[in-house]
This record gives sequence, C-alpha cells and structure tokens, in this order.
Amino acid sequence: MKKFPESEFIQLSALQHMLFCERQCALIHVEQLWAENRFTAEGRIMHERVDRGDSKDMGRIRVAYSLPLQSRHLGVSGKADVVEFHLSGGKQGKWVPFPVEYKRGKPKKNDSDKVQLCAQALCLEEMLGHPVENGALFYGKTRRRLDVVFDDALRRLTFETARKVHDLIDSGTTPTARYEKKCDTCSMKSLCLPKTSNGKTSVDLYFKKLLE
Ligand code: SF4
Repeated sequence: MKKFPESEFIQLSALQHMLFCERQCALIHVEQLWAENRFTAEGRIMHERVDRGDSKDMGRIRVAYSLPLQSRHLGVSGKADVVEFHLSGGKQGKWVPFPVEYKRGKPKKNDSDKVQLCAQALCLEEMLGHPVENGALFYGKTRRRLDVVFDDALRRLTFETARKVHDLIDSGTTPTARYEKKCDTCSMKSLCLPKTSNGKTSVDLYFKKLLE
C-alpha cells in the first residue's frame, strides 16, 4: 500500500469538502480561500467548546480531546474532537479507541460526516496499531449520537475520497461552478459565485470585481 510523505499530507477536513462539492474543496485546498457563514461559525464555536475539554477518566471509559492524527496510507493529518477509549474485557483488557466527532446540524443525506470519522479511525488504527471498528457522530441540532460502523464499504469510500483530493490538489485546477440547491448553504458561495462564475475561478472573478 502506498505511503505518503508528510510533505504531501492533506487536511483531514478536505475529505468532507470533497464529498460536499469538488469545487468547494478546490477553492479551499488548492486556491487557499476561506469564507465563513452562519453554519461554519456555529460549527467552529461548537468545536472550540469541545476542544477545551480536559481528559477524563470514567472507569471503563477514558476520554481525550483534540487528539492530533495522521495517516501515511491516506496521506492526511488533522485532529479528532474526542476519542473515547473503551476498556474491553477484564482488568487486563485492552483500551479500544472510539472516535466521536461533533457536528452542529443534523445527520446529512450524504456520507461526508461518516467518511471524515472513518478517516479518523484509520489514522488511529495506523498510529496505535489497534483495530477501530466503531465510532459516533454527535449532532448539535438533534442532540443525538449516531453510531457508525467502519465497514469495508465505508473504508473503501474513505480511501477513494482521499485519493480524489490528492489528485485534485496535484492537478492544481478548480472545477467549474454548477449551481445546485446546496450552494445556498455553502460558506464559499460569495467567492464561488455559482450562478455567474461561468467556469472561471473565484480568484479571477474576485480581482475582476475589485478592479471594476
Ligand atoms: S457555491 Fe455551490 S458550486 Fe460553489 S463551492 Fe459552494 S457548493 Fe460548490
């Protein structure tokens, strides 16, 4: 299996951006642009609150916050909001990592949140040398925790998505915009201009607008 050098690592969050919209992924990770809207601001505040947590020992569960992660097989690095370690077996049992990712909204129709969580699990497996079979997504809007099983299909999709992000970044190109309903919730809409960009990159348009 291919191993990426650290210099080629992509951000773990790029996988989620890729599954939401390839152009959004390129705007952020190729053109290095960023814009915040209400949804990303709420998400950021939620993550900041979670990140401030102190490690906890609750007997058979230990909790670590803001854990740095990386995987040479995926070629990604990032951070896990929360990793619980569940004691399996008796006193001499093993601590099994269980990643938990916090999201502001509600469960999505696509697999982007699950892929991001699965990427965390693959990082933990590689770093700790222990299988990570399950994790959970916690949604702020529903206040519910959704259990996620890291099955073969989800692992394949995660590797496939990471490969697409690497290819996109290597190509250095930004796909053209195509307006869809999801654009109305996209934080990059004001830079992307999906109804008017006509295939040009946001940077072209941004400077054109500035000069005008
Ligand atoms: S506005 Fe639409 S096309 Fe543009 S980056 Fe966002 S989702 Fe993609």
